Amino acid sequence: MRELSNPIISINGLGPKAQDKLNAIGIYNLEHLLFHLPFRYQNKTQFTPLDKARVGDEVLVQLSIESVETLPTRIHQLVCHLADDKGRRLLLRFFHFNQYQKQQLVRGDIIQCFGEVKIGKEGLEMHHPEYRLISKGQSTLLEKTLSPIYPLTGNIHQPQMKKWVGVAMEVLKKSGLSDNFEGLMGNSMPSLKQALEILHHPQEGENLEQIAAFKHIAQQRLIIEELCAQRLSLLALKKQRKRKIANVFTLKNTLSNQLHSNLGFELTAAQQRSIDEINADLCSNHPMLRLLQGDVGSGKTIVAVFACLQAIESGFQTAIMAPTEILAAQHLQSFTSYLAPLGVKVALLTGSQNTKIRTEQLDKIRSGQAQVVIGTHTLFQEAVVFNKLGLVIIDEQHKFGVHQRLSLAQKAHNTPHQLVMTATPIPRSLTMSAYGDLDSSIIDELPPGRTPVQTIALSNERKDEVVEKIKQVCDANNQVYWVCTLVEESEALRAESATNTHHYLQENLPNHTVVLIHGRMNKDEKQTIMQQFAHGEINVLVATTVIEVGVNVPNASLMVIENSERLGLAQLHQLRGRVGRGRDKSICILMYQPPLSTNAIQRLDILRQTNDGFKIANKDLELRGPGEILGTQQTGIADMKIANIVRDGYLLKRVHFYCEQFLNTSEDKQCALIQRWITDDKAQYAST
Ligand code: ADP
Ligand code: MG
Repeated sequence: MRELSNPIISINGLGPKAQDKLNAIGIYNLEHLLFHLPFRYQNKTQFTPLDKARVGDEVLVQLSIESVETLPTRIHQLVCHLADDKGRRLLLRFFHFNQYQKQQLVRGDIIQCFGEVKIGKEGLEMHHPEYRLISKGQSTLLEKTLSPIYPLTGNIHQPQMKKWVGVAMEVLKKSGLSDNFEGLMGNSMPSLKQALEILHHPQEGENLEQIAAFKHIAQQRLIIEELCAQRLSLLALKKQRKRKIANVFTLKNTLSNQLHSNLGFELTAAQQRSIDEINADLCSNHPMLRLLQGDVGSGKTIVAVFACLQAIESGFQTAIMAPTEILAAQHLQSFTSYLAPLGVKVALLTGSQNTKIRTEQLDKIRSGQAQVVIGTHTLFQEAVVFNKLGLVIIDEQHKFGVHQRLSLAQKAHNTPHQLVMTATPIPRSLTMSAYGDLDSSIIDELPPGRTPVQTIALSNERKDEVVEKIKQVCDANNQVYWVCTLVEESEALRAESATNTHHYLQENLPNHTVVLIHGRMNKDEKQTIMQQFAHGEINVLVATTVIEVGVNVPNASLMVIENSERLGLAQLHQLRGRVGRGRDKSICILMYQPPLSTNAIQRLDILRQTNDGFKIANKDLELRGPGEILGTQQTGIADMKIANIVRDGYLLKRVHFYCEQFLNTSEDKQCALIQRWITDDKAQYAST
């Protein structure tokens, strides 16, 4: 007997090519087909009388053929006039057809047609309907339930997909399907089997609008189950990690106290809370994996510095990884400014270092002379051997993948503690679903004395006014970023366009120093320019998005962003975060090319309304969806089968409730649930 665990290749007529196509979208066995849900339905449960057929509706009609003709238009058309017994008429049009087809359509025959009703010169029409010639003995189009329309892939056709899912549904009917939620939900929800039956073959009269909005109880049933599985799998990961052994740090606080008294400012309550949370983790013998979230400028660096000091006092090295060389250089500067006075030795490792310097740095890392190592992704390379790595800090984590996180962790004997800093606040719903395996500290307040950046949107036609504004700002001895965000695909074209802007600004600002920086320059050049800008030797910095993250120049108080309509919210917020870091009131001008799309209007509006990174992140999530935000390889969240945490956020409370119930059940039961929804053992099916 067929079982749901059978591979799809066991279905008659499903060959290796189709198997590959289906595998590619995560369908390996019959059970997976059950979860390939229709995205809409057609109603073929009844015939619609012609006087009830509304233009735009898809309807099933049964009529008789009155006449058939080929129109001598440029492209030949086959036209077939149909009528009902009251003389009401419908015209069929075929723009491509063959002679056989034409011969089959015979005056007086009964025909069933299913298609969208259109309006033409002579009244109602249907183009290329699905049809059956009843008089010729063809089977009826009439169905008992609504007909599912499935998402397709490759060159698989709708009838094939329908047939294959149908096979799986037959097996479901006979053999059933283990229901992980049995008994948990009482009678408040349909069973898994019922939910699947409703969604594949809704009865006539089922609330299709609800289904289209993903609010139907059968969908809720599946969504809750999928989100539970997602969450349980992350909790399981977390549990696994907690079983690993890490080095226990002993808090000495000598260096920390020293740093405290040198700081020159008070830590915010949120910073102090984060430091305490991190310290508690570091004293445990299980590896920390903590997300440190804080808006741009919220002061994450100093929190990371305190964590370094704990590692150092316990005799361990810290590796700090930045996504770009510019940022690594910036971190070197800011970390050294805090650490050097305490006598801590810091090494830098980047891809552009020459062999001599690199060898020196590698030696220091191997010997343990370097207590803190700052670098880019080069820190992962095999040549890098740490003496006693105890803590890994990763900045701007969304630029990395989970893999990189882990491979750096493997450079230590015991699993090192890890702190992942992100400047793009991640909405809570997303954190829970995508980062449920991480603990999280949130810096939700800015240091005092910051004035929020005023944000203005201006169309490109008002460039002159922008140049005037730049003059004012420079005359007041403040500095300006002009960001060319490109449109062009290649870095070469980007650089070229930035070069044009650079010339334009030089011409229009003859009394000020305008300097260009872009990704095609070599590292030294870039670094020199950034340093000059930081020292106030440059008034206006024209940059491609190389300055996107992390750069800290408090005297810069105006940021102009070109083509802002083309950028995502998170990126715009990041860029804007480069200003508003000093005492002076800062402005961000978002320049755009009209007309704006609705989506772009919404993005620019939210930026004008708020500086709150969490609010912006929520809006971003709403506008773009989680897959876009996290990047596809980041988590399984982008390829959830049914759930969408933005759309289904309202169900999270119930998800948590059921998760709690599940945590009280056996581990087998939890595993079964996870395995149903999260297919990571694809290899198992590949070999069958
Ligand atoms: P981010 O969270 O964006 O990485 P940084 O750590 O770069 O922010 O901090 C931004 C600026 O705020 C730095 O110049 C830093 O010295 C300053 N800063 C950090 N914490 C405080 C505080 N509690 N009070 C005043 N200034 C602070
Ligand atoms: Mg930073």
